[in-house]
Amino acid sequence: MAAFDNPAFDDHERVVFCRDAATGLKAIIAIHSTALGPAAGGCRLWSYETDDAALTDVLRLSRGMSYKNAMAGLKFGGGKAVIIKTPGYSGTDALYESFGDFVEKLGGDYVTAEDVGMSVGIMQVIARRTQFVSGLPPQEGHAGGDPSPKTAWGIFNGIEAAARFKLGRDSIAGLRVAVQGVGNVGYYLCGYLSRAGADLVVADIDPARVKRACDEFGATAAGLGDILYQDVDVVSPCALGAILTAESIPKIRAGIVAGGANNQLATDADGQRLADAGILYAPDYVINGGGIINVASEYYDDADDDEVMRRVAAIGDRLAGIFEKAAASGKPTNVVADEQARSIIAAAGK
Ligand code: NAD
Repeated sequence: MAAFDNPAFDDHERVVFCRDAATGLKAIIAIHSTALGPAAGGCRLWSYETDDAALTDVLRLSRGMSYKNAMAGLKFGGGKAVIIKTPGYSGTDALYESFGDFVEKLGGDYVTAEDVGMSVGIMQVIARRTQFVSGLPPQEGHAGGDPSPKTAWGIFNGIEAAARFKLGRDSIAGLRVAVQGVGNVGYYLCGYLSRAGADLVVADIDPARVKRACDEFGATAAGLGDILYQDVDVVSPCALGAILTAESIPKIRAGIVAGGANNQLATDADGQRLADAGILYAPDYVINGGGIINVASEYYDDADDDEVMRRVAAIGDRLAGIFEKAAASGKPTNVVADEQARSIIAAAGK
């Protein structure tokens, strides 16, 4: 496994291979950058075809966290961990404690939290061995807990900014929004949009979740294969990544794509493709930064819930700046966001 030759290697500061034979732990922690602060990013539990695939994933995701944290204005660098689900994997407390030991040995250069496959309960086990963990149950009057409502609040503010920029609309009332995926984030987003008077179309592979959105928010249900191509103002992907492709983009009728899913662009070139099609794209890692802002406020214990909501709402202005810069420079919004993230990290001087 050659880390330096891996195409996802981006001069990461440190890559730590963690093995504990006694508990079966096999994990990789990647610290992309600590220029802005401790490298923060969740731990993913996943079954990979090869160890190389796990390395690629953690390298790519940790760089993404550097960009996301920089654009969220946080005192966090970028990092990520993966715990490799080996055949016959059993997620014992001892295994997660061992992972906590590895995190602790990094002395605070990496701060872990939940990602795919993890839970608050597992974070509490990890926290028995390390203080460098977030995503724990909130204490009364402090930030923390489920980040999804905050992520949705950031997306709502981002949609407002996009509608103002692209459509000249000062209000969400009457805006038609198609939401792909009404799980945690999508559900809370529908709540904010519906209370502001938007008309909603939703789709989800889980019919119960579709029904909940229709019953509670008066949404209309659409087919799974049609949700991106509705006659609406905004498409909001809140389920899967890699849904904006050479095939899907020409069929999108909305003028705005603004949603919470990670890695929405199949390739960087799809950002240009959206721009060429006249579609305003809100870069995913900027618009969905509400969750990590919540995590940072918990970790630093420096804000109550109202203050976290204010910090998350600033995502709207941040996106407006990206939209203006993209329009002035002729560059796609994803490229402008990447450039801004890199320059914030470089200015921090490490
Ligand atoms: P979730 O699992 O609660 O919700 C995802 C929903 O999408 C589920 O209801 C699922 O049934 C549905 N879905 C899956 N495939 C679908 C398909 N093909 N078409 C329509 N619906 C489909 O997850 P979540 O926490 O709401 O996260 C949603 C997205 O936002 C993910 O990409 C996640 O990485 C990203 N994200 C989440 C947060 C957060 O705070 N939870 C923060 C940043 C980014």
